[in-house]
Amino acid sequence: MTVIDRLQESLRALSLTAVESRLENLLEQAAKNEPSYGDFLLDVLTVDVEARRQRYLKTRLQLAHLPYSKNFEQFDFGFQPSIDERQIRELRTLRFLHEASNVILLGPPGVGKTHLAVALAEAAIRAGQPAYFKTAHELVADLGKAYREGRLDRQLRVYLAPKVLIIDEMGYLPMDELGATIFFQLVSARYERGSIILTSNKSYGDWGSVFGDPIIATAILDRLLHHSTTINIRGESYRLKDRRRAGLLPRPDDQPPPLVEPAAIPAAASGGRGKRSRSL
Ligand code: ADP
Ligand code: MG
Repeated sequence: MTVIDRLQESLRALSLTAVESRLENLLEQAAKNEPSYGDFLLDVLTVDVEARRQRYLKTRLQLAHLPYSKNFEQFDFGFQPSIDERQIRELRTLRFLHEASNVILLGPPGVGKTHLAVALAEAAIRAGQPAYFKTAHELVADLGKAYREGRLDRQLRVYLAPKVLIIDEMGYLPMDELGATIFFQLVSARYERGSIILTSNKSYGDWGSVFGDPIIATAILDRLLHHSTTINIRGESYRLKDRRRAGLLPRPDDQPPPLVEPAAIPAAASGGRGKRSRSL
């Protein structure tokens, strides 16, 4: 049995799989660069530490159920001047997590609310803080079902455990009385214990109608906003920008682009193909 064989056996026994797969490469590099014993050991261990970190991150990201992967570098702040970048910089320190403070992103569709919520969640996960993402509608449906089956308390723990809970699209669908009561219970239970990042297309004044009851809406807002940052985005949809840009590209016959956006033309007028875009 060669030294390599015995090394491989030991690495396997210790589950140092990343080192095992790079063993020959590590040895070749060492023969060439002749690092000190300490440096060599450090190189070897770093390979495995890094691989473990990546595995841990991947698992945490999967557990968070994010709808997509986005970061702050992918966000064009120039396009959205209503966002105060200082606020974003402060949030990126993740101090709000340690203070169990909430983040509320408000604005019309397509302005980047979910993008920023996901970017914050990913930053939290990278910092070792578990996150969990759910749309408001899914969350209330899930907890409503648990309530009817007599296991609300147990199911609530799923939403209390992560350091940060992302509740997306609050307000797109109105809630019934049970939904509003459950939502209140959840917000109360997380109050001063764990952060909520919430996105909504409804301004605070409209929350009464979202919850179907101004009293419960006030009680929810009271707890949610006590320690919180509100990011009010008042720009135009980024999705619309892309379509605009597409419309401005020179067309093959060099005609000026149509004044009416193709998507806005009723289906009948455009030969049945002009479906109204759902992204707006
Ligand atoms: P909202 O949740 O506000 O409806 P999203 O966050 O889902 O909007 O944004 C819609 C799409 O546009 C996403 O793909 C997102 O990454 C992108 N987007 C929105 N705003 C920006 C921006 N300022 N810079 C880069 N991409 C953006
Ligand atoms: Mg969204």
